[in-house]
Amino acid sequence: MRSRPCDPLRRQGYQFVTPGSSAAVKPCLWCVKALKGGEMCYKHQFYGIESHRCVQMTPTLRCTQRCLFCWRSFEHEPAEEEECPPHLILERLAALQKRALSGYKPVQGVTPERFREALSPRHVAISLSGEPTLYPRLPELVDLLDARGYTTFLVSNGTRPEVLARCRPFQLYVSLAAPDPETYRRLCRPKEDTWEQVRESLRLMGSRRSAIRITLVQGWNDHSPERYGALAQDSGARFVEVKGYMYLGYSRTRLQRENMPEHGHVRAFAEELEEHADYRIRDENPASRVVCLERVA
Ligand code: SF4
Repeated sequence: MRSRPCDPLRRQGYQFVTPGSSAAVKPCLWCVKALKGGEMCYKHQFYGIESHRCVQMTPTLRCTQRCLFCWRSFEHEPAEEEECPPHLILERLAALQKRALSGYKPVQGVTPERFREALSPRHVAISLSGEPTLYPRLPELVDLLDARGYTTFLVSNGTRPEVLARCRPFQLYVSLAAPDPETYRRLCRPKEDTWEQVRESLRLMGSRRSAIRITLVQGWNDHSPERYGALAQDSGARFVEVKGYMYLGYSRTRLQRENMPEHGHVRAFAEELEEHADYRIRDENPASRVVCLERVA
């Protein structure tokens, strides 16, 4: 019998596209904040993405890595899952977001205008959980979302470059959580040795709008800025985001609060990167402990 997404995830607010698949939608905290008229996430500041009109989703719950800093639980990862057709995901997306947000309607502070706007989402962040390239029809899904007018952000750990090469999102993110293979193995704990695949994915970035995401975990991967700089330089990615690890979710069972860097540490690391590659700090958001660098040459 096929394993099914776990009930704990439903209790955490995951809305599954079908009962047997693990394609799911879950509004992020920034979406809810924005709905209440509050501030939006740093992607609004950096790239103009409106948080309350952004659907956070995943087509799979499986992953090729077991990163220590991941906020998800590895126990909830299904061994196998029902493959949901891309058109069904597309059709259900707005309705699932609506269902997920319906509880906020009567909450004091939700502005009617933002609630109305939230029911017509414009952006899709394929970043909720798991590694999206494990969904075999990802390129097709991204194309369908694009054709429907969504701005798509695809976040990958870079372990399956052969799939990424066929994806054409509005912006491609590849995570780079280590400057060398040893740190990668210790921190990201790949199921197979996929360091070379990550490097290959980085090399795909120059031909498209793209961002490298460095999740900085104090005491683990906040070293060798010259190596990160060289990898970014070779990639040709337009942006590099250095983001401090947040001591949240299930990562608290694997790491310590001390592994969460202050914004000043993140900023200082980004300044070192500037010295080793053709990237300059473009913007920063201290509340999210993130600094955005942009390529200048
Ligand atoms: S690659 Fe992403 S989803 Fe997979 S374990 Fe690492 S942080 Fe979690």
